[in-house]
Amino acid sequence: MIEVSGLRKVYQDRGREVVALGGVDLRVRKGEIFGVLGQSGAGKSTLLRCVNLLERPTAGTVAVAGQDLTALGEKDLRAARRRIGMIHQHFALLSSRTVAGNVAFPLEVMKVGKAERTRRVAELLELVGLADKAGAHPGQLSGGQKQRVGIARALAGNPAVLLSDEATSALDPGTTQSILALLKRLNRELGLTILLITHEMSVVKAICDSAAIMRDGLIQESGTIPELIARP
Ligand code: ADP
Ligand code: ADP
Repeated sequence: MIEVSGLRKVYQDRGREVVALGGVDLRVRKGEIFGVLGQSGAGKSTLLRCVNLLERPTAGTVAVAGQDLTALGEKDLRAARRRIGMIHQHFALLSSRTVAGNVAFPLEVMKVGKAERTRRVAELLELVGLADKAGAHPGQLSGGQKQRVGIARALAGNPAVLLSDEATSALDPGTTQSILALLKRLNRELGLTILLITHEMSVVKAICDSAAIMRDGLIQESGTIPELIARP
């Protein structure tokens, strides 16, 4: 479902070259939850941002659902990105809009008509357990509820793939468990493929089928969770 080959990303930082990704190969199968684990500065978020081409790779290719995104122009890329949802550590909600308004936002961008939009927003809020919060504003919600809004918004375009950027890092342990359980349920019920990045082994152990360990812009090792745990 996601195929990353020879991915390199070099940033220019005040005349100095920073190699954030030094040649990464990654394969995420359809219906899988795949974790990329690594410390701060390892290159995880650069990798994630290259998977939906928010960041242009310096070299290498990224294919999602069989389509090489690095070969697309801006217009085709915008269409392809609708099949890729993303959730964020700090939720990235619009504070002036209601919960429903936040979830409706991508549907408005896609020019979905009002009746269909309202139906879809209600369905999405039901899916994440926030049907009773449609009219609330983000400031009135707990962290866990905000992330549920983020998840509903990410699913609005009916994506095949969900990218998670440290989605539980700002949450307490109990709330983390409930968000991870929600992601697992969406993976099972919708067949959603999930690529997540995290610095916490506990997150990987809790929900991932496979994982890769990243360091200094390179993948050190990868495999299924039992394989990784069994290695010395
Ligand atoms: P992680 O998500 O694992 O913390 P990042 O992908 O954010 O790692 O960063 C990888 C490396 O690339 C780090 O050395 C970081 O300082 C550098 N880096 C990330 N973004 C930029 C940027 N926009 N400009 C210059 N260097 C960057
Ligand atoms: P905001 O004030 O945040 O802009 P709106 O009330 O204008 O929010 O709603 C934005 C969109 O969200 C509407 O166009 C509608 O499609 C959807 N929406 C609003 N309220 C609901 C609701 N209770 N259930 C489902 N969808 C809703």
